[in-house]
Amino acid sequence: MHIAVIGAGINGACTAWELARAGHSVVLFERDTAMAHTSRASTKLLHGGLRYLENGEFRLVREALSERRAWFDDAPQHARPLKLTLPIYRTARRPSWMISIGLGLYDLLATGSGLPRHTWQSQELTIGKNPHLKTDGLLGSFTFWDGQMDDLQLGLWVIHQAQNSGVKVSENTGIKAVHPSGQVTFSDGGSMQFEQIVNAAGPWASQLLAASRINSQHSLDLVRGSHIVLNRPCTNPCLLEVPNERRIFFSLPWQGQTLVGTTEERQLAPTPVTPSTQEIDYLLNAYNHFFSIPVTSDDISSTFAGLRPLVKSSSNPNRATREYAFERHGKLITIFGGKWTTARAMARHITKLIHNP
Ligand SMILES: Cc1cc2nc3c(=O)[nH]c(=O)nc-3n(C[C@H](O)[C@H](O)[C@H](O)COP(=O)(O)OP(=O)(O)OC[C@H]3O[C@@H](n4cnc5c(N)ncnc54)[C@H](O)[C@@H]3O)c2cc1C
Repeated sequence: MHIAVIGAGINGACTAWELARAGHSVVLFERDTAMAHTSRASTKLLHGGLRYLENGEFRLVREALSERRAWFDDAPQHARPLKLTLPIYRTARRPSWMISIGLGLYDLLATGSGLPRHTWQSQELTIGKNPHLKTDGLLGSFTFWDGQMDDLQLGLWVIHQAQNSGVKVSENTGIKAVHPSGQVTFSDGGSMQFEQIVNAAGPWASQLLAASRINSQHSLDLVRGSHIVLNRPCTNPCLLEVPNERRIFFSLPWQGQTLVGTTEERQLAPTPVTPSTQEIDYLLNAYNHFFSIPVTSDDISSTFAGLRPLVKSSSNPNRATREYAFERHGKLITIFGGKWTTARAMARHITKLIHNP
């Protein structure tokens, strides 16, 4: 089949690669350059998503944990296991027994991952290994394993694999409209006919449907997530609870510095995507609550933000599903939602859907 995939973020790149591997002739259209948007602005975790267990998303977590391993195996130059510390304070919203059960389940769902199980560390041991953590009210900590990637480089690696499998990547090629008949209209006015179109425009997927006058059952919740990079090394990756909230945030090593994120701010339109002053203050406050050497905006070396294209499912963005969904209109399939970690599994599902309409 002659297939057009629209959007060279991780979802479009993996879909194009998988379809080419299945023998199709694929063109991947991107209006900017590959991996220029959401897929390079993530928290850089290849993870099952421990907190999604609270929302009962067991299928998603199991799939993501298995995909996490596949990324480590296939692209070890850009993806690696990461040991995280989860400190437990007396003031935590979640009791340690609940976290212990969650981590036990996480280990179970990760069976076969080859990574060690979670452990409990006493207060003494926690302080010994994390000398910059504040000690007041600290009871101890759990350690568990997830993964970290260089999202831009891993994404470009996927693009490269896709090209090697025969995908033609057409950058700087905006798509103005798509049609259920298989017609693609370019922003410059020309058009082309395909046997199948995949709309993988991420946060812009609904906008492309609207511009094409196609009504869809699914809609996207656009939730901005911002990060700050602090000009200091991160000796111990941590998962922490935002003070007085159930939300969690991460402090992670990133290119010799410390990546702190993220936030959840609803946006009505997919642009602009920039961290607000309030989000930056929120992240600085959260970090300073737990670490003894305080940071100010002077310690920030860079900031970035991305827009989560979440399938609309909850009034609280923190509880909104990270699952993906597909919607078909004739020869057009649109991808809604998804995670970086699960992009290849999503691409296999979409390929099956195309083979078995
Ligand atoms: C703050 C944040 C943190 C995250 N952290 C993680 C994490 O740690 N781990 C994880 O697994 N997931 C994470 N995610 C989720 C993950 O990053 C996204 O699910 C994923 O990157 C979405 O990829 P995408 O390809 O759908 O979108 P994008 O990467 O945005 O790609 C869509 C592409 O479509 C192009 N496009 C749009 N419209 C058109 C058009 N009309 N014509 C041509 N091209 C078009 C855009 O230019 C863009 O390049 C995070 C997301 C955010 C926002």
